[in-house]
Amino acid sequence: MTAYTPPTDDIRYVMTHVADLDGILSTERFGHVDAESLNAVLDEVGRFMADEVAPTNVDGDRIGSQWLPDGTVVTPDSFKPAYDKWVASGFGAMPFDSEFGGADFPWISAIAVQEIFTSSNMALSLAPLLTQGAIDAILAHGSDEQKATYLPKMMTGEWTGTMNLTEPQAGSDVGAVATKAEPNGDGSWSITGQKIYITYGEHDLAEQIMHLVLARTPGSAPGTKGISMFLVPKYVLHDDGTPGERNGASCVSIEHKVGIHGSPTCVMAFDGATGWLVGNEHDGMRNMFTMMNNARLSVGLQGLSLAERAYQQSLEYAQDREQGTAIGAAKGTSSAIIEHPDVRRMLMTQRSWIDAMRALVYTNAAALDRAEAASDPDETRRWRELADLLIPLSKSLCTDVVNESTSLALQIHGGMGYVEETGVAQHYRDARIAAIYEGTNGIQAADLVGRKLAMRGGGVITDLLDEFEARADALAAIDGMSTFADRLREAVVTARTATAHLLETGPTDPRSLLGASGPYLRLLGTTVCGGLLAKSAIAASAADDFDGAFLAARITSAKFFGEQILPTATGLLAAVTSPADDLYALAADQLT
Ligand SMILES: Cc1cc2nc3c(=O)[nH]c(=O)nc-3n(C[C@H](O)[C@H](O)[C@H](O)COP(=O)(O)OP(=O)(O)OC[C@H]3O[C@@H](n4cnc5c(N)ncnc54)[C@H](O)[C@@H]3O)c2cc1C
Repeated sequence: MTAYTPPTDDIRYVMTHVADLDGILSTERFGHVDAESLNAVLDEVGRFMADEVAPTNVDGDRIGSQWLPDGTVVTPDSFKPAYDKWVASGFGAMPFDSEFGGADFPWISAIAVQEIFTSSNMALSLAPLLTQGAIDAILAHGSDEQKATYLPKMMTGEWTGTMNLTEPQAGSDVGAVATKAEPNGDGSWSITGQKIYITYGEHDLAEQIMHLVLARTPGSAPGTKGISMFLVPKYVLHDDGTPGERNGASCVSIEHKVGIHGSPTCVMAFDGATGWLVGNEHDGMRNMFTMMNNARLSVGLQGLSLAERAYQQSLEYAQDREQGTAIGAAKGTSSAIIEHPDVRRMLMTQRSWIDAMRALVYTNAAALDRAEAASDPDETRRWRELADLLIPLSKSLCTDVVNESTSLALQIHGGMGYVEETGVAQHYRDARIAAIYEGTNGIQAADLVGRKLAMRGGGVITDLLDEFEARADALAAIDGMSTFADRLREAVVTARTATAHLLETGPTDPRSLLGASGPYLRLLGTTVCGGLLAKSAIAASAADDFDGAFLAARITSAKFFGEQILPTATGLLAAVTSPADDLYALAADQLT
């Protein structure tokens, strides 16, 4: 089992040199935050997570959360002390509104904290993650009274939050939600129905749980238009705001899963539970969408976080484990497996994807911050469009890649990777869910081609590709980077061709458009990562604010990605431009 070392320098580097942290901090909105304080926070968070949270990760996997017949859920013994210290640290409140106890830090700083938390213990980090979603929803749509009553304790983490969307018949198709809400006549509502897969729907980490529940009011239209959002506290509050009587929301069982065993995934029964409307009746889906960007970005980040943790472990193993004699080593000696080219390839693939994912996710977070901070409407629109385009890429690409990279980490361990003793298999299993929840990656790809592709008639994508093309010229001017620059130009041409093809054929052939969505997302996402790593390499070749060896490693990693991974984007063009007829050539009952 390898101890986790928070990659604070890598995070700082990407924030500063790729995501333009200075630009964020120079806005009026975030002007009160200085880079030095942010650095200090990052160091402190790193220390806290490595010492207090990372050691609890294995308990999550081996002991897991347990459901008891009285409906309570017990997390592993080590979770609550770590969670209590997290609450006491105040780190969770950093990005939220200062009116309710937050510190108004930019979202990019929350992403940095989340990255380290998730690498330390993904299962535990889900409690604050879901709380964050609930906070965002209440902040954006709750009444003043709801905000004042619930947000301060949710922001500290003393109370946690949940998102109750999924029902047995309503997964990707949220419009099929059947949970009912009947008016009580006193402003409250009575909520009845069953929700499944609810993360931290019940647990022993906090004294109160705020459930955000999607339900239908009487006479509502079918589908998404008839859905409303309700706030259902586990304990209905006394007049003084303290938790009172137990509400009619209970956990009837928890799931036994592939991974994240420490995170309770609950079947929730709402049996006439008292709830309060959040926002307007029938606006439930629209309300959900306003918080989706942050939530989807955070799930994309989980890909990066677990890839990092698994990489650290596989690197250490590759340095320690000796097998065979590497080429060039003295005859009869035994070499560490890190000296074998194939193992090097697995390590470099993980390493360069981690840099790529970090560049993508932090650039995405920066775009959200810049959109929020901009005072000029055109500028707001521009940043918002970029953020919106990058969201499905961050979510899907990172959570697909983490399946590959944690698999490589396991592979480096050989047989020891497949037995549970080393702990590397946990990362592989934990990572698997991220491609499924918060909108499956298939749904993200549909969002990319269905909504994002057509933004400004494809202009948002074109702007980004233009930027990368110009960057390829700057890259080519750096010694040793001309091949990377050529590969970047090729990827840009491919992405332009693929985009133009889908824009042209999509409106008349929607089935082929959706059929192409997965490979297109990978093609565009890989190209975007190439463009961002070109920025990273250009910056590293001129920077002097980091150690020389660290900067050289940034360049090497970017070069590897540019020369050996970026070209895979070009190979996806055929899948993007081929018609869906190929997918339907066999009838459903012939796919045997
Ligand atoms: C561990 C865990 C935690 C979870 N936490 C929560 C939570 O806290 N709150 C909550 O509300 N939910 C939660 N979920 C539910 C999760 O969001 C859903 O599982 C997910 O949205 C997919 O829904 P489904 O499982 O019904 O799959 P389905 O919707 O049945 O999808 C099955 C497959 O079909 C594909 N598919 C479906 N429809 C389409 C379409 N229109 N176009 C293309 N492909 C399609 C999907 O991409 C997928 O590959 C959690 C799930 C798990 C396993």
